[in-house]
Amino acid sequence: MPLQITESQVRRILTRTSGFLTTVSSHSLQPYRGCSFGNALCGVGCYVQHNRWLTRGAPWGGFLEARTNAAEAYRAEYTAEQRWGRRSGGQFGIFMSSSTDPFVPQEDNCRVTQRVLEAIIDMPPDVLIIQTHTHRVVSYLDLYRQVAGQCMLRFHISIESDRDRLPGLPPPASSVTCRFEAAAVLRAAGLRVVITVSPLLPIEQPHEFFKRIAATADAVVIDHFIEGDGTLNGMRTLQTPLPQAMS
Ligand code: SF4
Repeated sequence: MPLQITESQVRRILTRTSGFLTTVSSHSLQPYRGCSFGNALCGVGCYVQHNRWLTRGAPWGGFLEARTNAAEAYRAEYTAEQRWGRRSGGQFGIFMSSSTDPFVPQEDNCRVTQRVLEAIIDMPPDVLIIQTHTHRVVSYLDLYRQVAGQCMLRFHISIESDRDRLPGLPPPASSVTCRFEAAAVLRAAGLRVVITVSPLLPIEQPHEFFKRIAATADAVVIDHFIEGDGTLNGMRTLQTPLPQAMS
């Protein structure tokens, strides 16, 4: 399926969080609408594909809209949203991103995430969490050093398994080795790294896998399905090929 790439101008870029994310940050920020990793391993169980408001009926992984004025929108909203975040949750925290990946390959041309990071250096939140499924996260090491001087910064790198190929599922957007190497690069630069094993998929050598995590990360989060997927009876996950592949 060819990827449809478009550009848009958004009115707002900071979204006040709801649900589970409220325990993590006051706001989320999506430099893109859609995600070009939608047909990769993480896209199989990706919750965003069920959000019809966001997909507007298009197949998940089939579209990517670059929000070209994201940095300008951030600067315009900053003061009001900082005030709201501090008043409601004690701090102004940004999760980038919860419904796309800030480092999709198209970022090389679009540079939306880069411009957002530059705006963040000028107008920092209290906390910035950068979530990704790809080694491409290391592209902006110089910017991260500046961001880390302005606010609390941490990276969440998702690594769901120790295998690049799981029967019945597509390959990941970035190999396990590349993501571990990216985590090591960030950590060596003095940045805080959390590995998110999310969702937890079959692991061939669990002891080795978690030793590797211990060697490259400050913390680990394991999202194990046991408490569901945010819907009654795990309906979201049941609509995907994951249960069959897991069995
Ligand atoms: S990178 Fe994130 S938003 Fe994109 S398909 Fe994977 S899980 Fe979904």
